[in-house]
Amino acid sequence: MPIFAERAYGGIVVDVDGNSFIDLGAGIAVLNVGSSAPLVVEAVTEQVQRFTHTCFQVTGFEGYIALAERLNALAPGTDEKRSLFLNSGAEAVENAVKIARSFTGRQAVVVFDHAFHGRTLLTMSLTAKAMPYKSGFGPFAPEIYREPFSYPYRCAGGAPPERCGEACADLAIASMDKQIGGNRIACLLVEPVQGEGGVIIPGEGFLPRLADYCKEHGIVFIADEVQAGMARTGKMFSCEHLGVVPDLLTTAKGLGGGLPIGGVTGRADIMDAIHPGGLGSTFGGNPVSCAAALGALSEIESRGLVSRAQEIGEIFKARLGNLGEQVPAVGDVRVIGAMAALEFVANPLTKEPDPAAASRVLAACHSEGVILLKAGTYDNVVRILPPLVISDDLLIEALSVLEKAVRAL
Ligand SMILES: *Cc1c(COP(=O)(O)O)cnc(C)c1O
Repeated sequence: MPIFAERAYGGIVVDVDGNSFIDLGAGIAVLNVGSSAPLVVEAVTEQVQRFTHTCFQVTGFEGYIALAERLNALAPGTDEKRSLFLNSGAEAVENAVKIARSFTGRQAVVVFDHAFHGRTLLTMSLTAKAMPYKSGFGPFAPEIYREPFSYPYRCAGGAPPERCGEACADLAIASMDKQIGGNRIACLLVEPVQGEGGVIIPGEGFLPRLADYCKEHGIVFIADEVQAGMARTGKMFSCEHLGVVPDLLTTAKGLGGGLPIGGVTGRADIMDAIHPGGLGSTFGGNPVSCAAALGALSEIESRGLVSRAQEIGEIFKARLGNLGEQVPAVGDVRVIGAMAALEFVANPLTKEPDPAAASRVLAACHSEGVILLKAGTYDNVVRILPPLVISDDLLIEALSVLEKAVRAL
């Protein structure tokens, strides 16, 4: 968007010309606690005055340990946990794969259609979409295998939405057995709710079947929670909706309250299997970023942002839920907490994607002062990711703009 930010607060971005925009993008699901959240500012200010950097592998400090302990306690499952901190989502995913390979002594990595895992060499290789993420940037990393993801609106197994989870699990499992062999797979890496792919919520049974397959074959199950984690979907981690407990999970975007940090949290026996010095990073888990993340977690807890995300989901359903029936160009409406999407089609029967309709809606919203994001393998999805601290009034005002733009199609 042709906007240069001057300041931001409570779901509003003010540009250098003095225009105000309602933010339904949150810097791509980063500002779950809002921009410059008070407890983040306080923690960062205090830390930046004491020391700005040591490199945790050289000289430890309390903030890193405190953050690890908080994430270890929040991560689903009863196993003892460990955490490692890096600088970004891509780096978190890279390290999760390194850990899984070292722990299992295997190389193969299974990922899914429509997946986004980052833009470094390994993570762009793990990402599904060529344009704009991979095109011209090869050769890609080896030993990566892609399986169908359950996308109930467009089931790869040809099943109706309510059977898509089982149908796609059957396809993925048969393909892993036949094309790789379960005992050669180091890890299965999956976004429990896909973000860039278009807010795709897998059908019932999909992830539990895959998790069972992983258990049976000694495969490390990694949930990439970089976008859907940190209270976004109305649970702390999106996998909690879907009946699975991952062995490792990755965090980043919403973790640092706007400062850069990524994390891997998971089973202590897996994390501790790596040789000393095998994992690390000069800046990873920087003290200022750790302080910011501790502040962001305190905001989530003290302001009840997990349940606030659920309330936002109810507002989405009330305002957008009927658009699918009323506007033929809206093929699908998907809502999980404060993460929602409208998928546009040229024809509701053939479901032919209509990226131009999504672009028209975005352009109309942008010119009316609402920041929104595009998504989807077919570029035909409008994605809605407000800061969780946005007021009802602002949210409803922005959704009215969106609704008007959609009805104008
Ligand atoms: C954004 C994202 C990443 C990459 O995070 P960066 O901080 O941009 O490297 C990885 N996985 C998912 C699911 C993401 O949404």
